Amino acid sequence: MTIQRGLRRTALITGATSGIGESFSRLLADQGFNLILVARDITRLDERRRELNQKHPELLIETMRADLTVEPDIRTVESRVAQGIDVLINNAGFGINKSFTKSSIESERELMAVLVESPMRLIHHAIPTMLQNSFGIIINVSSVASFIAGGSYSAAKSYLTVLSESLHSELQGTGVKVLALCPGFTRTEFHQRGRMRMNGLPKFLWLSADFVSEAAWRDVQRGKAISVPGWQYKILMLILRLLPRPLVRRYGMNAKSKQRKD
Ligand code: NAP
Repeated sequence: MTIQRGLRRTALITGATSGIGESFSRLLADQGFNLILVARDITRLDERRRELNQKHPELLIETMRADLTVEPDIRTVESRVAQGIDVLINNAGFGINKSFTKSSIESERELMAVLVESPMRLIHHAIPTMLQNSFGIIINVSSVASFIAGGSYSAAKSYLTVLSESLHSELQGTGVKVLALCPGFTRTEFHQRGRMRMNGLPKFLWLSADFVSEAAWRDVQRGKAISVPGWQYKILMLILRLLPRPLVRRYGMNAKSKQRKD
């Protein structure tokens, strides 16, 4: 979908400094959207804005410094969303490398704030104007982890996948499209930031952020509810559907413990 000059629509992306969010910002700029880029590191965000504006001087690109674990910051983003946006990419996220029984309650609360509460609140604020305009696209960056039982990260992503599926059904025929993007392992800063040990992972399991964002964009246009990019993860999804749940649980917790560095 390419937007013509004069009819420019606006997309807001959380976690736009790196990885999948950064990739979405380039994709949506190429599609002709004005952008609102949200994250904590304003220096990096402004750098992204300059790079994007060099290629697309015609676009209006705003940056918003917001820590989505901080109430006043999330309220500022909510207000901006409520003024009216056309595309919402709920992408900001991080992982915890400890099991629920070993992690601190503060890090579990931050996980819930960034992975669950903030996307939920932004979706809630985005939908009214999207419905008025009979146009909207919401992509919630979830994970294949949402289909297994691999700790609180999986549980948080399950919330996002199921909420996306529910809204996809509820908003059929309104012009508002909702998609859960469920990638597998993707080369970004995610694992390094989360101090996760990834050196044993076979090469073929790694996806690129551009491959993932492009697949999601294609799938949301096609009206899909869930996007699982890559043949490897499509096969994994089939296996997960066929496996008895006790085996899925055991696999999920094994995978989680292999990622732990300390
Ligand atoms: P990434 O490169 O580490 O990017 C994460 C982004 O989230 C950064 O822009 C970061 O920006 C932002 N962020 C983190 N905490 C934040 C907070 N408290 N407030 C505001 N922004 C925050 O990782 P990524 O892989 O692209 O992650 C994007 C999404 O993909 C996440 O939701 C992740 O769960 C999901 N995912 C990743 C993988 C994977 O293998 N990489 C697989 C499945 C799903 P600042 O540090 O500047 O705030």
